Amino acid sequence: MNSSEIEPRLLLGPGPSPVSDRILEAMARPTVGHLDPQFLALMDSVSEKLRWVFGTGNRMTFPVSGTGSAGMEGALANVVGPGDTVVVGVNGVFGTRLVEMSRRMGADVVAVEAPWGEIVPPERMLDALEAHPEARLAALVHAETSTGVHQPLDEVGDFLRNRETLFLVDAVTSLGGVPVEVDRRGIDVCYSGTQKCLGVPPGLAPVTFSEAALQRIQKRERPCQSWYLDVGLIAAYLGAERRYHHTAPINMVYALHEGLRIVEEEGLEARFARHQEVGARLQSELVARGFRLYAQEGYRLPQLTSAALPGGREEGPLRKRLLEEFHIEVGGGLGPAAGKIWRIGLMGAGATHDTVDRLLHAVDRVLDS
Ligand SMILES: *Cc1c(COP(=O)(O)O)cnc(C)c1O
Repeated sequence: MNSSEIEPRLLLGPGPSPVSDRILEAMARPTVGHLDPQFLALMDSVSEKLRWVFGTGNRMTFPVSGTGSAGMEGALANVVGPGDTVVVGVNGVFGTRLVEMSRRMGADVVAVEAPWGEIVPPERMLDALEAHPEARLAALVHAETSTGVHQPLDEVGDFLRNRETLFLVDAVTSLGGVPVEVDRRGIDVCYSGTQKCLGVPPGLAPVTFSEAALQRIQKRERPCQSWYLDVGLIAAYLGAERRYHHTAPINMVYALHEGLRIVEEEGLEARFARHQEVGARLQSELVARGFRLYAQEGYRLPQLTSAALPGGREEGPLRKRLLEEFHIEVGGGLGPAAGKIWRIGLMGAGATHDTVDRLLHAVDRVLDS
């Protein structure tokens, strides 16, 4: 097998999402050095555009070298250390991953659990924070890609305003698809990934840290457990000093820059409206076909639809046929939803009526026979 033999797919799973030719062409431009003034100017431009999509004035806003999970690990490792109390909302795979990483960093985790497919009730987060005034961090997943749930953030953000506890949000699947609004919501640490609603290949994880988070980092007694993801060290490369830390993945940065230009050209409001309209249409078309939506009503993400198949049909074989006969990728369920649901992503360039038409056509064929 060679990469030249790879057949294109219509990527309608939980990520990666379809990548436009403009972005692929940007990636094919000449690799330059990571200290080349041209590249440094491009990196500065990426940070500026990321501030705009995140809705923040945070100076420390940049793409971590690695996928969304590297963003998660970097976000946590810089502000969490041994013995810290961390309150984490858990209602799916990614809340569970936050807990696991925090524990590896030596934190005492208070997990606020809710059933998969439901939100973590904000009042339960507030109760846990009242019970643990010593908590150093509260964490929520904004868009739980394993279930399709859109988690409310405002109550926790408002509660934590003017408190010592930092607010961390996983925006891997939300950034570029629904409003994240880091500053308005009082979020201190936020990370994302390129391959969901930004429509860029996997490989970078945009992150942002508030001044309060940077102060926490500065006052650390022990250094960040990760050398690679240490924001203090990375700052020396991003700042005036331009000191070598690690080699930036140059061509991925070209891709992210081009992806962010595409977001700018469309405009954030228009992009959110497009995701909303197309996702709502898919959800009602699936219900009309007898699918049962898995995520709690009123809290469904437009960009990630989770649904059980009509008549208790087994999802695996039909999902395989979508891929093999129609070259369409959708995702299966995870955890308690394994074998029970499809997870359909309409993200970035995939969020169009045309992709919904193509998907429904294929779905009708595989359900028919
Ligand atoms: C995809 C995803 C991640 C992990 O990102 P990777 O790029 O797979 O490492 C983390 N959180 C959420 C909510 C995600 O959807």
